[in-house]
Amino acid sequence: MSLPSTDTVVTYPDGDLTATGTVVHLEPLPDGRTAVLLDRTAFHPVDPVWPDQPADTGELVLGDRTYPIVDAVVGATDGGSLFVGDAPVRTGTEGWAFVVCHLVEDATGLEEGATVAVSADAEHRRALSTGHTACHLASLALNEALSPLWTKEVKVDGRGRPDFDQLAITSSRILPDGSTDEYRIGKSLRKKGFAAAELPARLDELSATIDGLLAEWVATGAPVGIARDGDGHGLGERRRWRAELPDGVIEIPCGGTHLHSLSELAAVTVTLELVEAEGALTLTMRTSAEPA
Ligand SMILES: [Zn+2]
Repeated sequence: MSLPSTDTVVTYPDGDLTATGTVVHLEPLPDGRTAVLLDRTAFHPVDPVWPDQPADTGELVLGDRTYPIVDAVVGATDGGSLFVGDAPVRTGTEGWAFVVCHLVEDATGLEEGATVAVSADAEHRRALSTGHTACHLASLALNEALSPLWTKEVKVDGRGRPDFDQLAITSSRILPDGSTDEYRIGKSLRKKGFAAAELPARLDELSATIDGLLAEWVATGAPVGIARDGDGHGLGERRRWRAELPDGVIEIPCGGTHLHSLSELAAVTVTLELVEAEGALTLTMRTSAEPA
């Protein structure tokens, strides 16, 4: 069975939960599961390179048969082999096709060329989109709250604040109605001019500043969503989270799903925690969102 030479067309960035697609490839995996590749899907897969937002939950339907999707990951193929979640190249690399691998336990009855319906669980998606939108808002508020602690000029975010989030982040996990982000503050960040010594005494003040900004932004009910660079809507095309905040339009590279408006949120708040280990500080920001 030949491998696709073009990306899976993805409709989840627009908020779609259902799609109809043609099976373009079935790949039996060593663990007994099968990766089902469609030409088009609404199903969000986890990207192992930056696994912030977990995969959707849901199912494939062919006629009267239902195939639960037990996981979905970004795959890549150069035409010769299919890498399921372990691509040796960055998503978007020329000469490769990037595909959504819908993993099913039992693919009996599925075949290449079949037309299937794919659907993602609406409540799970809504909770993750809420968490992801809150996560990006909180990162901008964190950058602003920490801006007085920078003593040198560094790269700035879309609002012109020193981009602590991008310079220090080591992991981001989107949760239902929230997120957990970890930042490493080590020697190199201090060398760039970050006054780390001031952080422990200012944690409460910082989280109050962040919560204040978040309340202000949530109150605007501003439109948010995903903007695309290309018009093919392939998985490998770059996408950006976009928010129309009071001081301008902000864009952050993002492969996930989001709310359509901040009016879908009642409140977003954070807690900050600082831990010292092996000569570096780890700052953890836990964000929680209350849906409207
Ligand atoms: Zn994102």
